[in-house]
This record gives sequence, C-alpha cells and structure tokens, in this order.
Amino acid sequence: MNDKREDLVEKLTSHGYIKTEKVKKAMGSVPREKFMPPETRPYAYLDRPLPIGEGQTISAPHMVAIIAEKLDLCEGMNILEIGTGFGYNAAVVSEIIGSNGHVYTVERIPSLAEKARKNLENTGFGDQVTVIIGDGTLGYPDKAPYDRIYGTASAPQIPEPLKKQLKIGGKLIIPMGSHNYYQELVSVLRISEDDFKFQDLGGVAFVPMIGKHGWPKD
Ligand code: SAM
Repeated sequence: MNDKREDLVEKLTSHGYIKTEKVKKAMGSVPREKFMPPETRPYAYLDRPLPIGEGQTISAPHMVAIIAEKLDLCEGMNILEIGTGFGYNAAVVSEIIGSNGHVYTVERIPSLAEKARKNLENTGFGDQVTVIIGDGTLGYPDKAPYDRIYGTASAPQIPEPLKKQLKIGGKLIIPMGSHNYYQELVSVLRISEDDFKFQDLGGVAFVPMIGKHGWPKD
C-alpha cells in the first residue's frame, strides 16, 4: 500500500496538484485506505472520489491536494472543516498543521461522523481533530475565530456564519454554485471586519452542502 501511495503522490506532484513539501509529506504519510469502507480499500490509491455510504464520497486525492495547497496551511493553525465524511481530508490537514494546531470538523450525518471519529483515533489523530455532528453551514462558533475554513461540499452561496467565524487575515475555501454537478471553488480572504476579497479557483464537482445556509434537504 505504501508503494501505491508513493506512486500516487508522485503523480499528483508531477501533474502540479501538489506543489509544496509539506503537502507532499502529509499525503505521503496519511493512509487513505484507513478512511474508507473495506469494499473500496483496494482502490484507495486511484485518484478518484469513492463511495463511503449514505450517498456520500471520500474526495479525490487531487482535490484534497488542491485544497491543502490553496489553504496555505502553517503549523499551529486553528481550522474548521465542513463535511467530515470518513475523516481523510481532516487527517491530511492535521498532519500539516501539527500537534500545536487543531482541526474542528462538522458532519451532518451521524453515522459518518461516528466512523470518522474511529478512523481518526485509529490513525493517531484523535487528539488533534474534533468531529462535531451538526449543520456545518452554521460553522462552529465555540472555537471561532479560525485561521482557515474549508468546505468539502458545495453551497449555493457562501454561508454568512463561515465568513463571520474567519479571523481577519484568514482564508475560507468552498465549492459554490447553483449547479448540482459543477461548481466553482472559491477562495475568500477576510481583509477587515467587513471586507472580503474573492477569487475563483476553477471548476469542481462536489456533493451538496445541506443546511440552513446551504441547500434544502429535498
Ligand atoms: N472531507 C471528506 C473527505 O475526507 O474525503 C469529504 C466528504 S464528502 C465529499 C462531503 C461531506 O459533507 C459528506 O459527508 C456530507 O454528509 C457532508 N455535508 C453536507 N452538508 C453538510 C453540512 N451542512 N454540514 C456538515 N456536513 C455536511
């Protein structure tokens, strides 16, 4: 499995998705197969999103790399993730920010959150990543403000609570758009209390972010 992981990381680097040593090291050390159900583990090192149950997916490795690079992560940061899934992306981010940092990650589907907690504990991230069950479009005000916030599901617009929970100088990355199968990855830099700078990072395809400031349930 290690060789396959190394090959994938090399491929992601040569294709330009991985740009920095810190992202390369993290993706080379976090075992993606341990954040997947047994039936899809043989495919852990294909660059594909794969099913994790409840109609949800583990993100494709290149997407995890793009988000990690664009977040410009540093050691010790306070991070909020919306959409835990089985916990893989949170583990990669936690590996980069180290044990002085913390990742708070919100998942709306309890069975996925429980599984993510177990996966994170089993891989040694239990103390550095906290999984919260709830509607991530509300953010997680208890531990705000955050250096970085990122969404791994797509919202029709940027949820206001997430903008409010960013530190000044902090960055939010989220897939956004009105189409179900195609969205834009948007980066939001908080410049001051009321000023935000937006940047379009290109097209992506994510599952919907369902919640008060996201898509309705049905
Ligand atoms: N971060 C995951 C990984 O490591 O691959 C990817 C997760 S999947 C692409 C997106 C997740 O967002 C799903 O598990 C889904 O249930 C969750 N989700 C959707 N809307 C949400 C919301 N409002 N709050 C929290 N989680 C949400």
